[in-house]
Amino acid sequence: MKIKFLGTAAAEGWPGIFCDCDMCRRARTLKGKNIRTRSSCLIDDAYLVDYPPDSYMHSIVHDLDFSKLKSIFITHSHGDHFIPQDFELRADTYAHIINKKPLMLYGNTTVYKIFNDTLKNFNLENSVIYNSIEPFKPYKIDHITLLPLPADHAKGEMCFIYVIEKDGKTLLYGHDSGYYSDDTWNELLKHKFDIVILDCTFGPLDKSLGPNEYSQGHMGLYTDIKVKERLIKSGAADENTRFVITHFSHNCGLLHDELEKLAEPEGFITAYDGMEVEV
Ligand SMILES: [Zn+2]
Ligand SMILES: [Zn+2]
Ligand SMILES: [Zn+2]
Repeated sequence: MKIKFLGTAAAEGWPGIFCDCDMCRRARTLKGKNIRTRSSCLIDDAYLVDYPPDSYMHSIVHDLDFSKLKSIFITHSHGDHFIPQDFELRADTYAHIINKKPLMLYGNTTVYKIFNDTLKNFNLENSVIYNSIEPFKPYKIDHITLLPLPADHAKGEMCFIYVIEKDGKTLLYGHDSGYYSDDTWNELLKHKFDIVILDCTFGPLDKSLGPNEYSQGHMGLYTDIKVKERLIKSGAADENTRFVITHFSHNCGLLHDELEKLAEPEGFITAYDGMEVEV
């Protein structure tokens, strides 16, 4: 399983679109891995997790042909994870798809409502099909098993994290989320992960919560460490499991190299835009 991180920022991007803070200024000057676009991951060139507003730019910068995309798994409706307008451009005349197969979207009912409200006047019948999915139910999609589990993220919406199995490998796509609920943990611990991707929006700032508290809504490095320890202790991960942190906010106070210096000794790979990991 090949995972390519197309974007690794939280909602504002980094530098933040309208932000003039020290972190954003330093990122604008230093560039490189400090420039982060809104988060998504590409799996084996055909499956995307989330469709952020930077997706078109991702396809250009990373030389990707999105006509080859088979499915997109949406985690939740926030604008940095799902922007529906582009999908009208997969209709006939806007897009010429050689294999004629529709692009399949999977996500919760909140995302479906936004998709439907935005695109109801377009005939996408043969171009894009939305599938509403429920937590704790595994879905067979081509050679993938997709298991949505409840995230701890937004009130009034069933936000998902995903367990994705393909070709004998298992991925946890674990954001956006704070520390997981007991129900989610019960399901997670039934799996053995080859790669775990975690929310690190807060960077090192969740340390101030103290050793027995976990960050909610999003995670930071110290909650990520707790998640990693619990997965390893219960046998759901081991020394061969790759742990990756992503979805960073400019408010977290550390640029890429600084974050990496903290995260590497704890066994985490600090994601950057364009990074590839193969498991
Ligand atoms: Zn987000
Ligand atoms: Zn900023
Ligand atoms: Zn969110």
